[in-house]
Amino acid sequence: FLKGKTALVTGSTSGIGLAYAKALAAEGANLVINGFGDAVAIETERAALEATSGGRAIYSGHDLTKVAEIEAMMAQAADALGGVDILINNAGIQHVAPVEQFPIDKWDLIIALNLNAAFHTTRLAVPHMKGKKWGRIIQTASAHSLVASPFKSAYVTAKHGIAGFTKTIALELATFGVTANCISPGYVWTPLVEKQIPDTMAARNLTRDQVINDVLLDSQPTKQFVTPEQVAALALFLCRDEASQITGANLSVDGGWTAE
Ligand code: NAD
Repeated sequence: FLKGKTALVTGSTSGIGLAYAKALAAEGANLVINGFGDAVAIETERAALEATSGGRAIYSGHDLTKVAEIEAMMAQAADALGGVDILINNAGIQHVAPVEQFPIDKWDLIIALNLNAAFHTTRLAVPHMKGKKWGRIIQTASAHSLVASPFKSAYVTAKHGIAGFTKTIALELATFGVTANCISPGYVWTPLVEKQIPDTMAARNLTRDQVINDVLLDSQPTKQFVTPEQVAALALFLCRDEASQITGANLSVDGGWTAE
């Protein structure tokens, strides 16, 4: 149902972003994928997306912590594919440390990538969407856009920020056929979660198993990780015409975490 539409997914060389790209390609969308990683592995994924969609998939290796690089990525998307109809702001990083020891450079990077980048991609995508009277803006927010956890001050700040940003643009775009929503996963088993285990072990003086069972899965009443494919399935639904009245929402996929 997405033939002829172009989707740009930031941070789609891994984890949840890659799952979004695969789900959108399966419905025929052209894709701009973005993120870091091994060049051969990325090219393999890109070619597989084209084979799946029967359309085009292009790769942007731009670093979205830098405004000029975001502008270059959006220009690349417009030149190659005629503009972005579906924008998924997904690239994100985490750092775990007590606030008084929180490295200043990590704070700045997390705010730049997890929050500011979404503002820049949005302001550059919106004119095309308004012109077409159709668009979808989806943020991978987080349960941390609704509740906090200790030692994640920058991440929780950025995610609460993107929740407010999304409500604001939903109102601005409401009469233009453009919806804007947050998807807020709980813990999804991806490299982002795996990489924070050592720091959480240090910050809380716990073993690896204790971090997985007593910190991560302790938050989720279902006692299971969310899968990237479950998150992607919701994004796909938000792209459907049936979802045209869902806007400004923050949709949890968190095994019951934020119900507590
Ligand atoms: P991941 O580490 O698997 O993927 C992150 C992606 O972002 C990768 O493609 C990476 O290359 C890219 N990236 C990193 N720095 C970048 C930069 N400067 N410029 C461009 N791209 C960059 O992580 P994930 O778990 O799939 O996370 C994706 C999103 O989901 C993030 O916004 C994260 O906060 C959010 N999220 C994740 C979880 C979880 O439990 N994994 C839960 C809630 C929300």
